[in-house]
Amino acid sequence: IADTASNERPEDRAWLADKDHFIHPYTDFTTFQQEGSQVIREASGVTVTDTGGKAYLDAIAGLWCMNLGHGRTEIADAMGEQARKMAYFNTFGHSTNVPASLLAAEVAKRAPGSLNHVFYSTGGSTANDTAVRLIHYYFNRLGRHAKKKIISRNDGYHGSTYFASALTGIHGVHLGFDRISQDLVHHVSAANLYRRPAGMDEAQFCDYLVDELRQRIHQLGAENVAAFIAEPVMGAGGVLVAPAGYHRRVAQLCRENEILYIADEVVTGFGRLGHWFASEDRFGHVPDVIVSAKGISSGYCPLGATLFSDAIHEVIAVPQAPGGVLSHGFTYSGHPVSCAAALATIDIIERENILSHVREVGPYMQTRLKELLRHEVVGDVRGDHLMAGIELVKDRERRINFAPDSGATHKVFVAARQRGVIVRPVGNVIVLSPPLVISKAEIDIIVDTLHETMSEVGPALMAS
Ligand code: PLP
Repeated sequence: IADTASNERPEDRAWLADKDHFIHPYTDFTTFQQEGSQVIREASGVTVTDTGGKAYLDAIAGLWCMNLGHGRTEIADAMGEQARKMAYFNTFGHSTNVPASLLAAEVAKRAPGSLNHVFYSTGGSTANDTAVRLIHYYFNRLGRHAKKKIISRNDGYHGSTYFASALTGIHGVHLGFDRISQDLVHHVSAANLYRRPAGMDEAQFCDYLVDELRQRIHQLGAENVAAFIAEPVMGAGGVLVAPAGYHRRVAQLCRENEILYIADEVVTGFGRLGHWFASEDRFGHVPDVIVSAKGISSGYCPLGATLFSDAIHEVIAVPQAPGGVLSHGFTYSGHPVSCAAALATIDIIERENILSHVREVGPYMQTRLKELLRHEVVGDVRGDHLMAGIELVKDRERRINFAPDSGATHKVFVAARQRGVIVRPVGNVIVLSPPLVISKAEIDIIVDTLHETMSEVGPALMAS
C-alpha cells in the first residue's frame, strides 16, 4: 500500500511495520526488537533479493519448499488463471473443483502401494493432524477404541498445531509451552548415527533402535498403540539419516503389531531425495499413510495432503451411523489455486526431468560438503541428495557441541549471508535444502562460501 503523502514505497515501510506488528514464527525476541528482520523483496531461480538490493543464493529453498526455484511463471500463471476462473468454492460434502480432483489422481498415481486416497489440508501440521485424527477414527470404526497412542521420535519435527507439536520430539520447541496429554504421544530415540552409543556400528545401532521400539510397544501394549510416525530423513531435528534397513524393519514391526506407519514426507516428498516419495523408492517400504506438503506445490501456495491406503479408506468411507459424515475438514481443503499450483509443479517436475537431475546433483552436493570436515569446528556432515546437515562441535574428538547460548550456528549463518549465501541454523546444525533445480556450479558456490565462512568463524568459535 503506497503512502501517497510521503511518496514512500511499501517496501520502505515494511521493516518498521514488521518490527512493530508481526509476531514471527520461531523468533528470538531478545534480538528482534533491535535488529528487526531482513525483508526479502523479490526472487528468481535460486536467488532472493532483499530491499537493499543485495542478492543471495537461497540454499534453503525458502524453508525446504521452493523446490522448483523462485519466479516460475508457469506456476504463477496456473494460479492466476485458476484464481480468475474460480478462486474458491468449498469441497465439503459432494462439491469439488477441477484442480483438486485432478491433483488427487495425479498424486495417487505417483504414491507407493495402495495409497490412493488424498485428504487435503493447508500445510504439514494440519496434514499430520489429519493423519492422526483419521487414524483414531479408523480404529474407532473397527471397534478398537483403545488403540490411540502414537509413537514418535525424539528430534522429529511434525509441525506447530497443538497435536503436531505434541508429535514433535525436539526438546527445545516445548520449552514454556503446554502439551496435550503426555500419555497420548510417546517418543523413542532418534536414529542419530553420529550420536549413537559408543562402540556400536551402524548395524548394531539399527538393532538397538528396533529393539527399543519393540520394548516400547510391549510396554504400552500393542492394543493401545495406533501409529508410529517418522520422517524418512529427519529434517529440522538436524538432518538425520537412519541406519540402513531401519525404516523397513520398523515398518515390519509395526505391521506385526497392527500399528499403522505414518511417513511424514513433508520435506522428503516431491523430489528432494530424487523420487516422488522417499519411503518406498529410497527406503524400501510402503507406509500406511504419507503426509505431504511444502514441495507438493513447490511452496507457491499453502497445501497439505495426507495419503491413505485403500485398506484405511475402505473403513473410514463407511458412515459411523445412519446419516453420519466424515466430520473432518478445513475451509481450504482442496483450495483450487493451491491445487493448480501443485498440478503445474508436477508437470514441470516431469517435463524438466527434475527427479533425475536431483539424482545427479544430490550426490555431488553430499560429496563436496564432506570437504568441510577439514575444518576443526565441523563434527559431522550428513544428508541425502538435496538435504544436508553440517553439525558444529567444540570438541570433535568427544563430539561435544557448543553451549546453546554460544550462537555458534547463528554466527555461521550471518557470515555466510554476508557472503551472499543463505543457510539455516538449527540448533547445532547448519541445514541446507536448496531448490531442486540447483546446478553443480551453484552447489560449488555454496560449498566454497561455507569453506570461507568456516575459516573465518571456526577458529574464533573454537577459542571462545
Ligand atoms: N513435517 C515436517 C517433516 C516438517 O519439516 C514440517 C515443517 O517444516 C512440518 C511437518 C510442518 O509443516 P507446516 O509448517 O507446513 O505446518
